[in-house]
Amino acid sequence: MDNLATYAVSEHNTRGRIINETPPSGRSEFQRDRDRIIHSKAFRRLEYKTQVFVNHEGDLFRTRLTHSLEVAQIGRSIARNLRLNEDLVEAITLAHDLGHTPFGHAGQDALNQCMKAYGGFEHNLQSLRVVDILEERYAEFDGLNLCFETRAGILKHASRKNARNLGEVGERFILNQRPALEAQLANLADEIAYNNHDVDDGLRSGLIDLEQLQNVGVFSRHWSVVKRKYPALAGRRLIHETIRAMINIVVTDLTVQSTQNIKEARIGNLADVYDAPPLIGFSPAIRKEQQELKKFLHEHLYLHFRVMRMSSKASHIIQRLFDAFSANVRLLPVKHQQKFRQIGHQAIADYIAGMTDRYAIKEYQRLFAVGQAD
Ligand code: MG
Repeated sequence: MDNLATYAVSEHNTRGRIINETPPSGRSEFQRDRDRIIHSKAFRRLEYKTQVFVNHEGDLFRTRLTHSLEVAQIGRSIARNLRLNEDLVEAITLAHDLGHTPFGHAGQDALNQCMKAYGGFEHNLQSLRVVDILEERYAEFDGLNLCFETRAGILKHASRKNARNLGEVGERFILNQRPALEAQLANLADEIAYNNHDVDDGLRSGLIDLEQLQNVGVFSRHWSVVKRKYPALAGRRLIHETIRAMINIVVTDLTVQSTQNIKEARIGNLADVYDAPPLIGFSPAIRKEQQELKKFLHEHLYLHFRVMRMSSKASHIIQRLFDAFSANVRLLPVKHQQKFRQIGHQAIADYIAGMTDRYAIKEYQRLFAVGQAD
């Protein structure tokens, strides 16, 4: 980490941890954050949480865990290119989905609906809640006591109302400031990862096909290049070479465009970053292509009837669980009953959000299937 840019987050300009700790030896503060995230319970649960395809649909589809690892890989490469803090980017990217419910976005929407009367549910906020409060590992504090910049990077969005209750990590939403470049980068690495791996998983599932993808500019352009270079190549290798080229072009574009943005805005230090407009971004042409790809995936994959059927089942499971626990708190495991007495329905949301897909399905069977063991 010697060669960091002057505007990168570092151990010299960090706002530190809520509870002061002895500095680590042999690793940086942000490596320590990364290590704490990897050792957390919520991180291990990502293996059994849906990205797009529910965990039991096939062994080769991305899960939240492999998605997070791909985001970290892309984020770290770009961080190194831009001389940003690679350890911080790794920590943010590995933690960015820790608050996701089971069953992906369908689960999050259902839980948000259930929690409407109690302040709603938002997975970003929940990710922060996991690292700030819910993890129980350390003698001296709840949560993981991560550095300010890691927490700020995990909190991608917050309404002004929620931001007011979050202390210093919520301040930027009230002051209309940007997060550090490492957080901006983590956010775009997420987008690059899912846009590309969802093409791969979509094709593997058979829900989208190559013919449809020929109408998507960025795919057909790289497909033709690969085809010309390797006329005999077919099947999955041809798909992988195309997606590889699609990732490479956006990573390179993001590096070049962001370098230019930083230069033009005359960014000298971290405070300049907070007050500048967003600086990590694609060139207009690549941005347009990415939007086209996103739109395609939305229409043809995320809204595919087979994905929708699973989403509808997922909403049903989450709603029934929430309603059952709300109607009779004694159906909750004892630990969560105790929490309910302290924090009300948020305790039910915490319990449900923490579930993996298969745990939620099992819990549903335990509560509603006649003849099922408890
Ligand atoms: Mg993500």
